[in-house]
Amino acid sequence: MSNLIDGNQIAGQIHAELAAKIANVKGRRPCVALVRVGEDPASISYVAKKSKVAAEIGIESRLNILPESTSQAELDALLDRLNADDTVDAILVQAPLPKHLDEQATFNRVSPQKDVDGFSFANLGKLCQEDKSAFTACTPAGILELIKRSGVETRGKRAVVIGRSLIVGKPLALLLMQKGVDATVSVCHSRSENLAAVCAEADILISAVGRPNTVTADMVKEGACVIDVGINRIPCAEKKSGYRLVGDVDFEAVAPKCSKITPVPGGVGPMTVAMLMSNTVKSFLSKTPQK
Ligand code: NAD
Repeated sequence: MSNLIDGNQIAGQIHAELAAKIANVKGRRPCVALVRVGEDPASISYVAKKSKVAAEIGIESRLNILPESTSQAELDALLDRLNADDTVDAILVQAPLPKHLDEQATFNRVSPQKDVDGFSFANLGKLCQEDKSAFTACTPAGILELIKRSGVETRGKRAVVIGRSLIVGKPLALLLMQKGVDATVSVCHSRSENLAAVCAEADILISAVGRPNTVTADMVKEGACVIDVGINRIPCAEKKSGYRLVGDVDFEAVAPKCSKITPVPGGVGPMTVAMLMSNTVKSFLSKTPQK
């Protein structure tokens, strides 16, 4: 399908660019510390994927796997050790954390210089200030990169983001409205009225809800670019895993109307990992003398 945005292919390009950037740097490799608490199946697979991609690029990843029963004090102590370790450039705490842990406090505990997820108040504040030294949250940064590398015009265009989370919707809205990107941005959420009518005005429509068929064909303008962030597991007896992945968008009905559309899987997901690697390399190069 010619209007399909291939996230795997674009992520692959970014991996190759990162590998080339660090190939000639002498001394230690860039290093990302991956922290996982508990045995959430999705988190296990995300952390494994991040570790695999890191190895392919030439980035060291150190896995820190803590039991479900880990206390906030124990998690904080680990983060303090990783913050103080000069051989660690980047720290990623895989969300969601078990319910008894304070996710926001945990994100803020990570040193802003190593917060490659970009969820700390320091990096979110820098994003508001359009400070280029910020680590931008990986999924929103990946979405913007997909849009740019697919040749989708953003300047002056109407972008509608469905979802207002700290992880996707909010930072994405900030990125799309920044100078140089220049979209006119609307953010919709679970309390929005006339969702379909707002979406139908979008030149670029991005859904980050986590509910299948949130975006149906009647909500999409002819020629729009549609980015599907949602990851939903649908029970499926034919699959070995017992489920298949779908996004938020009714892909079959929506795709024929679009100038561009991302699939699920293989759209935004690989870009989130690529941006984590990009932020890790950015952190590494910021303290490694360049020839
Ligand atoms: P979240 O639950 O924190 O936020 C969901 C948002 O959707 C909320 O802001 C809520 O107001 C809005 N919403 C809920 N129901 C709605 C409705 N009926 N109409 C309009 N808005 C509605 O979720 P999140 O962490 O932002 O993730 C959203 C989805 O994106 C999930 O499926 C998640 O798995 C996926 N995700 C994918 C990636 C990736 O790399 N591809 C990364 C992060 C999240």
